[in-house]
Amino acid sequence: MSHGRSFPQGALVGVLTAEPLDRVLDYKAPEGGVSTGDFVVVPLGPRKVAGVVWGPGEGGFDPAKIRPVAGLLDVPPMRPEMREFLTRAADYTLTPLSMMLRLATRCPGLGQPPGTRDVLRRGQGAPDRMTPARARVLEVLEEHGGAGFAPGELSQLAGVSSSVLKGLEAQGALVRVPEPRDRPYDRLDGSLPGRPLSDDQTRAAEALRATVATRRYSTTLLKGVTGSGKTEVYLEAVAEALAQGRQALVLLPEIALTGAFLDRVEERFGAKPAEWHSGVTQAERRRCWNAVAEGQAQLVVGARSALFLPFRDLGLLVVDEEHDSSYKQEDGALYHARDMGVLRASISNAAVILASATPALETWANADAGKYARLDLPQRFGTASLPEMAAVDMRTDTPERGTWLSPGLVEQVRARIEAGEQSLLFLNRRGYAPLTLCRACGHQLGCTHCDARLVEHRFRKRLVCHQCGDSQPIPTDCPSCHVEGKLTAIGPGVERIAEEVTARFPDARIAVLSSDQLESARALKARIEQIAAGGADIIVGTQIVAKGHNFPLLTLVGVVDADLGLMGADLRAAERTFQLIRQVAGRAGRAERPGVALLQTYQPEHGVIRAILNGDEEAFWRAEAAAREAAGAPPYGRMAGVIINAPDEQRAFGVGRALAQNAGGLTRLGAQVFGPVAAPVARVRGRIRVRLLVKAPRGIALQAALAAWRSSVQVPSNTRVTIDIDPQSF
Ligand code: ADP
Ligand code: ZN
Repeated sequence: MSHGRSFPQGALVGVLTAEPLDRVLDYKAPEGGVSTGDFVVVPLGPRKVAGVVWGPGEGGFDPAKIRPVAGLLDVPPMRPEMREFLTRAADYTLTPLSMMLRLATRCPGLGQPPGTRDVLRRGQGAPDRMTPARARVLEVLEEHGGAGFAPGELSQLAGVSSSVLKGLEAQGALVRVPEPRDRPYDRLDGSLPGRPLSDDQTRAAEALRATVATRRYSTTLLKGVTGSGKTEVYLEAVAEALAQGRQALVLLPEIALTGAFLDRVEERFGAKPAEWHSGVTQAERRRCWNAVAEGQAQLVVGARSALFLPFRDLGLLVVDEEHDSSYKQEDGALYHARDMGVLRASISNAAVILASATPALETWANADAGKYARLDLPQRFGTASLPEMAAVDMRTDTPERGTWLSPGLVEQVRARIEAGEQSLLFLNRRGYAPLTLCRACGHQLGCTHCDARLVEHRFRKRLVCHQCGDSQPIPTDCPSCHVEGKLTAIGPGVERIAEEVTARFPDARIAVLSSDQLESARALKARIEQIAAGGADIIVGTQIVAKGHNFPLLTLVGVVDADLGLMGADLRAAERTFQLIRQVAGRAGRAERPGVALLQTYQPEHGVIRAILNGDEEAFWRAEAAAREAAGAPPYGRMAGVIINAPDEQRAFGVGRALAQNAGGLTRLGAQVFGPVAAPVARVRGRIRVRLLVKAPRGIALQAALAAWRSSVQVPSNTRVTIDIDPQSF
């Protein structure tokens, strides 16, 4: 890839835009010339769109028809590392390069000079009359503050019309100001002393500092039990990157964790880092993007999309809770942030730290094979010990009819309440009940657009489709037989468990933490802090509670249904169950109070449950690895999913069968093609999904073969074929 090659006025240049064209377009360099990497504006049909000069033009068109570049954007040029990263990520994931560019140019108002846009901020004035709509606007302002809001964004976030904003503006409760220019982030001071570390921590921290100091690519698995102080340790690696004058990026799997992390960074380095995720306002994101490009932002904490920020000199990437499935982007460009992070770092000569108590099997295997270094923190920090784990055998310790908690678990919760300690009841199911059934005719309530059941959400008083998000009020009579009062909720979700504990412990303070609550990151952080400070006796939660929160008073974790994730044929079922339950159990007994984790199960002798209980992780990984290897499954073989999304079954299966018949190129390389079959949820939002699965040995040029295969088949209009490299579930 040429580095900043320049093209004089009139020379033919290739410009990549984020338009879905999947090709670089030819233009003429404008007056003053352009260089590779420059952000430009080019005419496209009647429009003008932003793009990046990608290299020399291809030529071959009538030179008279080639239009000149319309202008340059005031943005630091895209660096060669970024162009290489986007190219290789596109090749690896079989995603059009234009779609990758879109990820890399997600800066609101890209290239508009600062100060040319107006933002709305809280003013001194008070509204003359407080309406619910006005209150919501003020609440949003209160929550985000910072750089202010683009007017459209504010009305959207608050769910109010622009006239509400105008009213507030007229009264001085809102003021319109030019977007502030160049508000630099406060300097982080890498030379401030950290907390004294334990011997294990010191060893790990020194090893990590050394890898950053090489200024070369490397990946290290930092495997440490929950509470071992992984964060404390990788912040030392961040300190080293700061000392080197290089930038660092920390990825977190959950926005709700960033608040606590920002505080920890501030405590360690004296200032807050830049933040990048969907909960950050446009103006803040723009500020972050620009400061990252200019090298002014030293540390960014963010979601997976932060990988596509234009770092000037990335020296360290940390992927915290690296096993977390939310790192896989499941729509648009299908990429895994861990794997793309390793690619990004290898191009930028950066060190990677993958931190987890329960690494992904892929990561474990890479460390086992010596591709990644590995550091272990086998003990909790200080005197804290790991929770004791035990099974509750539901065949003998059976809950009463219509309840879900065994007498044994209920007694343990009671004992915690009496001791002034907290209990966490974990069930990875949102809502009140997963199924609503008519006891008169047997009809099950389903979504009209999807092959999915409607899930009752009693707090919201609605039935919700977890596939498409559509919802409706809970009916009183059956939509099928119209008999009244026979609709019955079957099975528990977290809301139902909360109802049960409320009935059993009417005086206890109960908090429900579920991933579907419509809360801002800040409100959620406040609620989590309140729980951590002792503001609840019983926490009932979905997988959101499994991730990295510290609850010092929590001494009991009850897993309501340890068998839940073991059902189904998914190859990762065992791994996921193991990770999730170990992770959630790790919440117990953090501070200096010993903890207990109780697993309600109907199959205590199941291999995975036994492995969770006895804690012999290496044995579990070895057994899993052996099973995967025998099946030729990842990471020992390769897989790709093909998803065909069509308006009807005929078109979907037509394309699927054509692909299956055309698979000679793949099978000659030793790959196998399975399907087409209907996807697990075959109909979503009224569209049909059909899948094929490709299994291939390692070491073949799989992507090239897949690309050729896909283009060998005619795809009818309104039908999409997506290839998912390394699918997370199959
Ligand atoms: P992990 O990420 O491995 O679960 P954390 O880094 O969150 O662990 O640390 C767990 C708890 O132990 C935190 O409350 C943290 O502040 C504390 N801790 C860890 N290491 C130290 C240390 N060296 N000195 C003081 N407190 C520590
Ligand atoms: Zn639906």
